[in-house]
Amino acid sequence: MRYVKLGKTGLEVSEVGFGCIPIIRLSTAEAVTVLRRAYDRGITLFDTANMYLDSEEKIGQAFEGLRSRLILASKTLKRNLAGAEADIDLSLRRMRTDYIDLFQIHQLSLESDYQAITGPDGALEAIFRAKQAGKIRRIGVTSHGIEMAIKLVKTGLFSTVQFPFNFIESAPAEELHPAARQEEMGILAMKPFGGGALDNGELCFKFLRQFPDVIPLPGFDAVEQVDQIVAVYETENAVFPEDLAAMESFRTELGQHFCRRCEYCQPCEQGVMITPAMNYPIIAHRMSGPKAAGFAAKTMESVRNCTECGECMERCPYNLPIPEMLKKHLALYDEHIAGT
Ligand code: SF4
Ligand code: SF4
Repeated sequence: MRYVKLGKTGLEVSEVGFGCIPIIRLSTAEAVTVLRRAYDRGITLFDTANMYLDSEEKIGQAFEGLRSRLILASKTLKRNLAGAEADIDLSLRRMRTDYIDLFQIHQLSLESDYQAITGPDGALEAIFRAKQAGKIRRIGVTSHGIEMAIKLVKTGLFSTVQFPFNFIESAPAEELHPAARQEEMGILAMKPFGGGALDNGELCFKFLRQFPDVIPLPGFDAVEQVDQIVAVYETENAVFPEDLAAMESFRTELGQHFCRRCEYCQPCEQGVMITPAMNYPIIAHRMSGPKAAGFAAKTMESVRNCTECGECMERCPYNLPIPEMLKKHLALYDEHIAGT
């Protein structure tokens, strides 16, 4: 494992980090085992969030006594001063620490949110105060909106930027990453597997390792997964024409209209299981139609309740035409049922 400087933050981190959403699926004992395995294999950067249920608590439990060897990153979704202040203190308590290396404003994609956090009594004021008090070392931001992310980079308010980056979402390499480099910011890559749309881990990391100053944050929920990715980092990276062709084939298959499983669209008042239903064609591709229809029956039957109200669409950071896509996926499911 190599260790690299995270922009001009002064933080040195492992060249691959650990995105701590998946540990919420694990029992505390299992999560501690996976986190400790990552640490033992050289991973030092752990990125969590106040909203990831008990993720911070599990990190606190896993790393008692090891604090000075880790770089801990967390985030708040709160937009106001009081909310952000409370979240920072909660994160400190849960992670059993008296400082957070990197504290980020979470999912800042809308202009209204930007106005809220920078306005009077906005979340940024709480974060500045916490930094002054020594509770936070560096301030970062995460976003799913490319134009907003570029704007945020240029404000000079943040030391790091975190954005989805993988070979089907490679746009950040064109403008966002160069802009962040110009400001000497640290660059973090969420969703290295396309939010679950990509199942070829080796190919994903062949792509990502071409950008050694961009630190990917894969999520792990098993020690074997940690070992696999760390093993990839123990080899020299080489991207061959057949790898490029495979990436292109994934891009063509998924197109621009694919769901990153971020779950911001949920919940649906009609009980539609939006995220798995949005991914039905991927499951069908992997399993064959009839098998997928059986496997996803509960999910796809819930789509029949959709009233096309459009509320989920307003919450989707990728502006996906969700009701329209769900309709198409339901038609595909019905074809598969008919074929069984
Ligand atoms: S458009 Fe359909 S899936 Fe989306 S919130 Fe409305 S009812 Fe639910
Ligand atoms: S439909 Fe949009 S908001 Fe919902 S999970 Fe997919 S990408 Fe995220």
